[in-house]
Amino acid sequence: MDLTLNEEELAVRDWVRTFVKREVMPMEQEVLRRERANEPTFAPGELEDLRAKAREAGFFGLETPEEYGGMALSAVMTALVNVELGRSFVPFSFGGEADNILFHANEQQKQDYLVPTIEGTRKSCFAITEPGAGSDARAIRTRAVRDGDDWVIDGEKTFITGGNEADFVIVFAVTDPEKHAAGQTDESVTAFLVDREAGWRSEYIDTMGQWGPASLIFEGVRVPHSSILGEEGRGFALAMQWIGRGRYLLPARALGGCERLVEMGMEHARNRVTFGQPIADRQAIQWMIADSAVEIEALRWLVLSAAWQADQGMDSRHAQSMAKLYGGVRCNEVVDRMLQVHGGMGYTRELPIERWYRELRLLRIYEGTDEIQRRTIARNLLKGHASVGGHLR
Ligand SMILES: Cc1cc2nc3c(=O)[nH]c(=O)nc-3n(C[C@H](O)[C@H](O)[C@H](O)COP(=O)(O)OP(=O)(O)OC[C@H]3O[C@@H](n4cnc5c(N)ncnc54)[C@H](O)[C@@H]3O)c2cc1C
Repeated sequence: MDLTLNEEELAVRDWVRTFVKREVMPMEQEVLRRERANEPTFAPGELEDLRAKAREAGFFGLETPEEYGGMALSAVMTALVNVELGRSFVPFSFGGEADNILFHANEQQKQDYLVPTIEGTRKSCFAITEPGAGSDARAIRTRAVRDGDDWVIDGEKTFITGGNEADFVIVFAVTDPEKHAAGQTDESVTAFLVDREAGWRSEYIDTMGQWGPASLIFEGVRVPHSSILGEEGRGFALAMQWIGRGRYLLPARALGGCERLVEMGMEHARNRVTFGQPIADRQAIQWMIADSAVEIEALRWLVLSAAWQADQGMDSRHAQSMAKLYGGVRCNEVVDRMLQVHGGMGYTRELPIERWYRELRLLRIYEGTDEIQRRTIARNLLKGHASVGGHLR
């Protein structure tokens, strides 16, 4: 068993590490100031300029196929890159990405939605959650009714990331109410690509995080039949494919944040003197650092193992759920400990720790809550779809 990174992986990882250090981290104080002042995170054009710089060096569309100008990186490489990006709380990402399910679009839709999303000229959002259907996504009630060559959509979606900024939405609606009532969700839900101009509106939702998701309201929104993404009635599988896209990616990014937080904690512990000694000499502080370091390592291998399984063409969903669950729970422990190590300063808005504290909390909720991951993991084991010990057993 060889757990070392190969030359290509090292080169990519190191390039991103340097980029984050040189280009992203210097923005941190200004980003904090802007957020305290309720200003947008990035000044106009700032994110685009950064992305253009990265693109010049070839960093564009990490997982996007080469035919669309992307890098087509492996899952392991993408995870490694996300760890590096996570080392700064500035929400930077490389351009050139598109929702994975947009690749199911037909040729016309690819020109209208996929290509402009990759090029950054159009913004998408993904909408399945509703006020009455979150974890239980099969309970969605948004309806699309056929009317001649059109469909008319009515319903409300909620907590939609990017819903305030999006030019179009990938929205999931019930198109066969009888099958839906009979629990045949795999045949009753359809995905539609709907431009904002078609008439849906968004309302900002204030959260404890830095950028608010949106409620999307559909009242008699009329779209042509050609707006269907994939096949009529087969939308639920697409939704699950979107959500399952890379449950190792969110914890990978959080892992980078935890590494940085522990480094900050150690630095502070070495310098902060109480009762005549640096707090780093106290066992209480050392144990917080040691436990955090162990958990970071455990998370690293859960993330890389899930990504590696995906690269091998194995069914990595079980491993991804474990990485997502462990990452969500442990990252929140780590940030809480590092806030504690900083004492009162950790609680202020002068340092980014409280920001990470609020942001990492979300990891336990979206793209499958802790409880839903546990439910999935236990079911896989109890039904024999996965075994304790995984693929090495
Ligand atoms: C900031 C943010 C961004 C989001 N972005 C998007 C997006 O872009 N697109 C989108 O469609 N959705 C998005 N979501 C929605 C998100 O996926 C849901 O909030 C999440 O799935 C949980 O659903 P819920 O909020 O309805 O909670 P509920 O499903 O009502 O759950 C409430 C509690 O009950 C628990 N619970 C539920 N069922 C069970 C069970 N069977 N056993 C044990 N415990 C259970 C849950 O774990 C949770 O603790 C976002 C949410 C947030 C907060």
